[in-house]
Order: sequence, then structure tokens, then C-alpha cells
Amino acid sequence: MADAALFLVDAHARSADETCRAFAVDPGHGLAPGDALARAAAAGANVLASAPPVPAWRKFLAQFESPLVILLLVAGMISLAVWAIEREHQLPYESLTILAIVVANALLGFFQEARAEEAVASLRKMTAAQATVLRGGVRTIVPAADLVPGDIVILEEGVTIPADARLVESVSLQTAEAALTGESMPVAKDTAPVAADAAIGDRSNMVFAGTAVTYGHGVAVVTATGMRAEVGKIAGLLGETKAEQTPLQAQLDSVGKILGVVVIAIAVIVGATILVIQRDFSAAALVGILLYTVSLAVSAVPEGLAAVTTVVLSLGMQRMAKRNAVIRRLAAVETLGSATVICTDKTGTLTRNEMTVRALVTPSGRTDFTGSGYAPQGELLADGKPLGEGAQRSESDWALATALLVNNAHVVERDGRWTVLGDPTEGALKVAALKAGLTPAALERRLPRVGEVPFSSERKLMSTVHCDVTNGARTVLLGKGAPDVLLARCTNERVGREERPLTDARRGEILASIDALAGAALRTIGLASREIPEGAGPPGERDEREFTWLGVIGMIDPPRDEARPAVATAHDAGIRVVMITGDHPNAALAIARELGIVPGAAHSSGPAGEAVIGARLEKMTDAELADVAARTNVYARVSSEHKLRIVRALQSQGAIVAMTGDGVNDAPALKAADIGIAMGITGTDVSKDAADMILADDNFATIVAAIEEGRSIYANIQKFLRYLLSTNLGEVLVMFFGVVLAGVIGLVAGEGEAVILPLLATMILWINLVTDGLPALAVGVDPAEPALMRRAPRDPGTGVITRRMWWGIGVASVVMCIGTLL
Ligand code: ATP
Repeated sequence: MADAALFLVDAHARSADETCRAFAVDPGHGLAPGDALARAAAAGANVLASAPPVPAWRKFLAQFESPLVILLLVAGMISLAVWAIEREHQLPYESLTILAIVVANALLGFFQEARAEEAVASLRKMTAAQATVLRGGVRTIVPAADLVPGDIVILEEGVTIPADARLVESVSLQTAEAALTGESMPVAKDTAPVAADAAIGDRSNMVFAGTAVTYGHGVAVVTATGMRAEVGKIAGLLGETKAEQTPLQAQLDSVGKILGVVVIAIAVIVGATILVIQRDFSAAALVGILLYTVSLAVSAVPEGLAAVTTVVLSLGMQRMAKRNAVIRRLAAVETLGSATVICTDKTGTLTRNEMTVRALVTPSGRTDFTGSGYAPQGELLADGKPLGEGAQRSESDWALATALLVNNAHVVERDGRWTVLGDPTEGALKVAALKAGLTPAALERRLPRVGEVPFSSERKLMSTVHCDVTNGARTVLLGKGAPDVLLARCTNERVGREERPLTDARRGEILASIDALAGAALRTIGLASREIPEGAGPPGERDEREFTWLGVIGMIDPPRDEARPAVATAHDAGIRVVMITGDHPNAALAIARELGIVPGAAHSSGPAGEAVIGARLEKMTDAELADVAARTNVYARVSSEHKLRIVRALQSQGAIVAMTGDGVNDAPALKAADIGIAMGITGTDVSKDAADMILADDNFATIVAAIEEGRSIYANIQKFLRYLLSTNLGEVLVMFFGVVLAGVIGLVAGEGEAVILPLLATMILWINLVTDGLPALAVGVDPAEPALMRRAPRDPGTGVITRRMWWGIGVASVVMCIGTLL
């Protein structure tokens, strides 16, 4: 490492090899972990410098910023001055008490605020950026802050690029660089060197920190981290992110302000009344009244409403995080409570995302697979008997070889358990091929991969380019994807060892076999291959046609155990559950029925028992879609842009929509939804950035749990408001009527006193101190009531304090006032 570069500014003009050499790193192995640590010490953390945090003493002083508190302090000072002149008591008891209470109040506020900030900071840590790197030959996930120049980073669709890096390998890699260059279209990336003076936007072999991979995958060597990265040059100092106000906080702020004005008016009236009754205009008496009036105002003005709400919301956020729902925007907590529709993905969210191939249908018949999970142990059966030699064997071998080659997953055994690294669908295909006795190494030697057109949810298809070394180095394109989509691109089929043209009748039969597999709730994948004519140039997306159909695979992905009860809870709570999936409509419906999202088979005649497919949705106008969306619970074969339209259609009908998503292209739908929910495990960075909430466990049941928490938090805030407002109002009423009605209710002032004060200034302040802040917290952590999830969602149009609550508050405060005065 001694002679390794610390960073490079001209990596784009060098070759990939040269760049790796400059950093003394082998791109196939990565840095040794110890070496990475040493480089980290020299290069510093991969973070943008941020403005220094506000020191604690400034935060404490900020507690005294309220004009009322300043007024109280001023009044206390005047009282101190009067004491100094008149010396009636040995010590200025009143001013000292006031000072002590004001300080105690500030401390309380300070610690509450710190606690809320802590909660938010720990959540931020949970959602901190990560990067996949190759270190010591092993793929590892490290915090993005730990990246060093020379690190080999693995880039996949949807990742946010963690540092500036020079590409070493690119498979159709495209990135979105709008944040850096303003270029709104994705930019294609490759590994060829460019001119040394190329502008940032033209450095097509570089990827830049803060931009994101939108398509394809690649490998790159980090050339600059932290403030040395291009984004560091334009970002300058990263300011403290200003906390936005949630709608609830804004509402409470304005309620607080109105109440403040009312209370101050009452306090002034009380003060004036005392003055009129007392008719003592000496300095001491005037200061006494001033102190009294200000204390009353300070105690009764609910200035802490928004602050307490923040604490309750952030404590709630922490509780939700324990249940695997990580909130990224405070406002989502309250919106969750009013959600009326949950739009959810199927794979991995409602199902376990643990795939096992059950069947392969090729032109000569159906082959079944035994065994479970990812262990490559099991048998291939035809009609219940081991699959023998013959046409079906030959077809299944070629189909499974294709499944194994058009595949980026790895199946590994760890501590006696077989697991998949990569896409579970591909892992399952690999396991099936292994069960058939195919050997990956031999196949890869015979058909080395020379190119790839990656999978995307939009295309629902992927293919790889191979050189068939045993067949005169012919170029072969192997494809796999949604079977209906792939079949439409096929012109032939492979029967035995022969290729035959696909007749319409055969096409119909194949479609029927796909429907049958999907109808049994199996996820289906079609397989096809094609020989590329010589001299046609390097194969790409445009060659994904005129395929030869090989067969269709059906795999199970069992529903999660907790999904069915969670759907039932959502329905009880008046929330509709809508499944939006890229999968086949029959498979989607079968799972939806199993989970109770649509009525069971017996009454599936209604429109709710139908699936609307993407192609049909595309032809609908927005108005038609809004109409259909009102009664459709299953959408199949849809892609991300359909998700956006579905959200808008539901919203146009007044629904509050929670929408899940994981891909790059789901980001607009997640942003448009009232609550965008990203997947913590399988989700891309891009989708997480766009979301309001992240499911740490990708589980549908967690959404329902989060809604329950959201409702409970809202209910607790209402409880607290009811408590605070009725006691404060009671207090003001006692003071007002106590002074005004003293004579009427038969109270006589003592010797030397002109008026009766129900409570002294210091008493009021003390009551305020012990009754306002802490009970709020107690109420804030109240457990959820069981009835909460049997109610309809809250109408977001009604204020946090409903008309009924106002009545309750009014009655309670009048009762308290009468009781106290009596
Ligand atoms: P959900 O939207 O619920 O997550 P999904 O995972 O089925 O469902 P997509 O990932 O968009 O949605 O997949 C759509 C279809 O594409 C699948 O039904 C399958 O037939 C096919 N498919 C999925 N993964 C692959 C893959 N790695 N290679 C080829 N085809 C795939």
C-alpha cells in the first residue's frame, strides 16, 4: 500500500487496469481488510463535512426564547428591584421561586427535546447508507462512510453510488446523474477511457457519489471519497437538516396560538379586575399584579403543544422501529393512522420469497421436482416415475441448462443450510438444474457468457449472450422471463432435439399450460433460446425476438404465515388491501384468495374476484381507471408506471393510500402515495430514499402493525390534549371567577388585602411545572387500546381536536372550576 495512490483525479483518462494498479488493488479480490483500515486513516471517512452541531448550552438557552417566559423573567426582576427597595422580607422569596421554576421548566424542555433528537438520530443510523464491496476476496456490506480509495464496489440496479469510482466492469450500466449534472435522462456507462479534459457529464467510465444506478450492474474502483468526490465540491458544508413540521404539529401550533391570545386576554382582564377592585396603585401592588398576570398567562398558554407532540411522535417512532417499521418522515406516523387503502407487492411481502421449483412443462410433457428449500437434493419425475431418457429428458435438460446459464444467483451451503445469494427466483432455477444433475462448471465452459441484457420489471425478461465453443463458436442468445411475455417473442419450439415452427394451436396449448401452473398459485418463468445469425453485430435488446420456446417452469413461494391474519386485521380496521404484482394474474389471484384479499373461490364471481392486468389498465382513461380502482383488489402483470396511476386513481376517490415498492422505477409511486413504503431487505436505495417508511423485514404484517401504532399515537396525542386543555382552561376559569365572584360566593379579604387570590403567582407556576410536561409523556406511551383496530380510519379532514372533544374540554374545565371554587 506504501506506493498506492490516495486518490486520482484523472482516472477517467486511464484504463481500468492502470487505475487499479495506481491504487494497488486487484479488482477480482479487493483490498485486504487491514489495508482498507490503514487507508481509512489516511483518507478519512467517506462523508460530506457537516456544519458543527448546535452546542448544548445554546439549546438550553433557546428554551428561554418564548416571549412569555422573557416577560415572566422581567416581572421577576422588577419584583426583585421592589424587594431591594422595600426590604419587606429577609429574602426575595417570590423572585427566587419564579427563577427556580423557570429554570426547572427549561431543563424539562431541554431534556425532552434531547430525547426526541436522540430518537430521530438513532433512526437515522438505522437508515444510513451502505455499500457492497469486495474485501479480501469476499463480498461484504459496509457502511458507506467506511469506503476508502481503492475499494472495489459492486454496483447493482437501484443502489446509490457511495463514492466517485472508475468502472472496471459494466453490464448495460446506466446511472441517473441529475443531482450532479442536471442531466435528466439516465446515462449509459462503460469502461473505455475518455479524454482527460472531458466534462463530468461526459466521463462515461466514471460513476459519481450521490447518483444512482437505474439499470444493469457493474464493478468499480473507488477513486475519491468524502469531500474529494465531485458532490463534495458542489455540496460545500452540509447544513443541519431542518426538521419539517408535520401537519399535526402545524395544526397544534395554530390551535396553541389562538388559545394563547385568548388566555392572555383573560389574564389581562383578571389583572385589570384586580386593579379595579384593589384600587392600590403603589409600585409594590402594581408589580404584584404584573407578576400575577404574567404567571397566569405563562401557565395557561399551551405553548408546548407542538413540542410535546414531537416527543410523543418520536417515542412512537422508536416503538415502531422495534416492530420493524422504520419511519423516515415524522409526518408519516400520523398519516398512517388515517390510511384507508394498502397497496402491496406480492413477492416477499405477502409471500416468503423462498422459491422452490415444482414443475417444468416442455412440449413433450410435464416434469415434477421433489425436495424442498434450496438444498439441491431431489428427483425429476414424469407421471410419478423417475424421468427416463427420451424427448422429454432432452427438452428438460436444455431448458434447465438455459435456466442455469441465464442466471446471476449463487446457491451456497453455510453451516449446513443451503441459501441463495442474489435473486431467490434465479436461485430456485439453479437448484432445479442441479437436481437434474447438470454441472454448472461444464456448461459455463461449453457456453461462456459474453454479454447480458439485464432483467427489469418493465421488460419482465432477461437474456444472456453465449459463445457455443462446441458448435463452431456460434453466438447463442438465451432468454428467460414472464412466460406470456417471452412466448410472444417466440416463433419456434424445441421438441426433443428438433426445432419446429410454433403453430397457433400449439401457442394456445402452451398458454393453457402456463395458466394451469399459475392457477395453482405457482410463479411461472418461461425459457427460450436463439442462435444469432453471423455478422449481425453484438447482440442486444433488439435481438430478443424469434426465440425458440423451451418450456415453462412453475415454482412455489408460500404465503407468509402472518399475512392472512394481518389482512383480516386490516379489513376489521376498515382498510382495503390491494395486491399489485408483476406476476401472472392466475398466480396473483390464487394467492389473493388464500390470503382473503379477494373472496374465496366459492363466491369469486363478483368483480372483486377478478385481476386487472397491466395491458388492460394501459388502455383505460384516468376516469375509467378511477372507477375500476374503486372495486379492484388484484392487479397483475403491472409495472411501476401503472403503480403511479393506481395511486392517483385511488386518491382521486378520496383514499389515503399506503403503497409498497422496491425497484428504482417505483420511486415516483412511492412519492405520490400518502405513505410510501420501501422494502428494507430487497429494496433499492432509490426506493428507500423516496419512501416515508421502510419495512426492515419486508413483511406485510409490519405495515398493519405500523398502522396500529400510528392510530395509537394519534389517540394518545388526543388524550393528552384533552387533559392539558381542560386543566389549563379550568385554571384560568378558577382565577377569573375567583377574583370576580369572591364577594358573591361569600369570600372576604383578610386584613390589609383588597382582593382574594385563589392561587398565588408562584403556586400557578408550580402547578404548571408538575402537571404539564410529565403527564404528557406518560400519556404518550400509553399502550394501544384493543378497539383501535376495529374502528374505521380517521378522516384526515377533521381537526385533531374534534367538536366533541371541545365540548368535553369545556364541561370538564367548568366542573373543575366550580369544584375548586366551592
Ligand atoms: P411483485 O411485484 O409482487 O414483487 P414479481 O416479483 O413477480 O412481483 P417482477 O419482479 O416485476 O414482479 O417480475 C415479473 C415477472 O417477471 C415474474 O412473474 C416472472 O415471471 C418474471 N421474472 C421475475 N424475476 C425474473 C428473473 N430474474 N429473470 C427472468 N424473469 C423473471
